Amino acid sequence: MSQHARDPQMDMSLREADPELSAAITSEALRQRDHIELIASENYTSAAVREAQGSILTNKYAEGYPGKRYYAGCEFIDDVENLARTRALQLFAGSEHVNVQPHSGASANIAAFTAAMSPGDAFVAMSLDQGGHLSHGSPVNISGKWFTPTFYGVRSDDGLIDWDAVERAVETAKPKVLIAGASAYPRLLDFERFARIAHASGAQLMVDMAHISGIVAAGLHPSPFPHADLVTTTTHKTLRGPRGGMAFARASAAATLDKSVFPGNQGGPLMHVIAAKAVAFKFALEPAFRTYMEQTLANAQTLAGALAACGFGVITGGTDTHLILCDVTPLGVTGKEATLALEAVGITINKNSIPGETRSPMVTSGVRYGTPAATTRGMGAREMEKIAQWSVDAIARRDDPAGLAHIAREVSELARTFPVPGRDATMLAEEGSR
Ligand SMILES: *Cc1c(COP(=O)(O)O)cnc(C)c1O
Repeated sequence: MSQHARDPQMDMSLREADPELSAAITSEALRQRDHIELIASENYTSAAVREAQGSILTNKYAEGYPGKRYYAGCEFIDDVENLARTRALQLFAGSEHVNVQPHSGASANIAAFTAAMSPGDAFVAMSLDQGGHLSHGSPVNISGKWFTPTFYGVRSDDGLIDWDAVERAVETAKPKVLIAGASAYPRLLDFERFARIAHASGAQLMVDMAHISGIVAAGLHPSPFPHADLVTTTTHKTLRGPRGGMAFARASAAATLDKSVFPGNQGGPLMHVIAAKAVAFKFALEPAFRTYMEQTLANAQTLAGALAACGFGVITGGTDTHLILCDVTPLGVTGKEATLALEAVGITINKNSIPGETRSPMVTSGVRYGTPAATTRGMGAREMEKIAQWSVDAIARRDDPAGLAHIAREVSELARTFPVPGRDATMLAEEGSR
């Protein structure tokens, strides 16, 4: 036998091979089980998505695209990427070309930027403090360092898109690209109107539907297709897939977009993640996904109403989407204080700037709630009412440790009756409680 002594660790389970790391994952499984997740950008993946993402596909280099790879041995990899591409195009009627390789939403955005612009070029986007995203021109992000942003926002009286500001920004900046899409906007976005404004001045419309792509896929939010020239999204928010991104272009700009992703911005694609994206798209094409999305929106409306009844200042008076933006000033706290009080009872949300914000982004006057994750676990109207009540109680008792501990017990009792999807999640958590 000429076989050398192969490293026995290579066949061990994670728990055997790395108990320290394994313990951290188990703790996180317990946290996920016992807390109610209301961060609008988070969700729980299916067991099948995680199985694909944890698969042997991670072993393969596949620079290039199906049929045009730089490495040998890519025939099955091509099947994987083609499945993801076909399903993505099926999911969004009117889409013409998709690239499923971006590693994240921000990576999809920089690929779209470099497909449509050269360094220094002007673009117009929603400002971060009015609901936009870091990757839409923040001075600390490459989008703001290498390109030249002009911002629009929302009206301070009603929290809705300030169309006059959009038009003014486009007229004065003469941008190459107008971006529509936000991280903290609870109402429908009128993509047709954005497209009219962009195209009238010779700009391209880029829609970043990172938050709402699941709602669009389910037909419950107007689609950016065919109005937008470029569309980007994450795959892990409402779409409920693995952490990742994708980008769409018109057929005429397909080669430009693909070159911008690879070799422009990335090296080898994460084929295990692309496989998991394909699984998520298959799920999203099924009627059960539409039912899930309908329930997510219904839960958001119930939660918005219940929070308003508890004294939260619900921005725009409600929501058309999965997220709710609230002014917590009427409750006598800052966004930071409210978030910390809720964290102490196991309800996870984030602080958020609100229209006309007077406090710093580290403090804020508002909070953001979202229902995709809780809805995935099966929570409904009754649970939303309880969450609103617990929220206001936790804020009122924020300096009373015994009071907070009492609420935390109620929260975790409820959370445990709605298991995180997947036998693996349940088993990990059971292991951790032993
Ligand atoms: C979440 C989000 C992104 C970024 O996604 P990452 O995967 O975190 O890079 C981009 N744009 C918008 C509007 C988002 O909400």
